[in-house]
Amino acid sequence: MLIAIIVILVAICAVVVWGSACISSNMFVKAQCALTDKRKVLLTFDDGPDERFTIAALDALKRLNIKALFFVIGEKAAQHPDLIRLIKADGHAVGNHSYHHNPKYLFGSKNQILNELQQTNNILRENGIETAYFRPPLGVTNDALAWAIKQLKYKTIGWNIRSFDTRREPREIILSRVVRQLTGGNIVLLHDRVEHVDWLIEQIANEVHKRGLVFASAEDLDV
Ligand SMILES: [Zn+2]
Repeated sequence: MLIAIIVILVAICAVVVWGSACISSNMFVKAQCALTDKRKVLLTFDDGPDERFTIAALDALKRLNIKALFFVIGEKAAQHPDLIRLIKADGHAVGNHSYHHNPKYLFGSKNQILNELQQTNNILRENGIETAYFRPPLGVTNDALAWAIKQLKYKTIGWNIRSFDTRREPREIILSRVVRQLTGGNIVLLHDRVEHVDWLIEQIANEVHKRGLVFASAEDLDV
């Protein structure tokens, strides 16, 4: 019983502390959290596809000629394969963000964790996508997940700007949080399940251009 309580407390700390600083501070899984090219900025969108807001995000990205990286939840991808195909058709890259997006999966066996990742892999494959990218839900990892990532030969992608765009805050506050960290070489963590996603994309694009920076695509990630 005591051990169970300790495990749960450690897991909560992992979510709160490590999850906010790239990928578990690279403790179990080595993640790429910045671009090598310091003139560039990569936008990444987690937790879609979303039937309400993914299309607005895609429209804004198309208008601004930006190629982004979408980390999709397998369960949602299975419900909206049309959106997955649209993301791909627009030239964006797609990554695996687990099947259920429930950090409890980390308490499963190695094979259960592998299965969680494989389920999303299968959905993407059914839609013609072979992804090399993985981002753990909330950035939380453990050694069993590290093993599963290795089995699937995934490259784990973190971030160096976390927008916290899912918070109930005025969109201007979210924008200023992103903008003050825009120094180049950035991987920006956004979500295509929030209402102001298209507005944020447009405003961030303005700031990127003002600073003489350019947008990267997933091809700018290290191999
Ligand atoms: Zn997520």
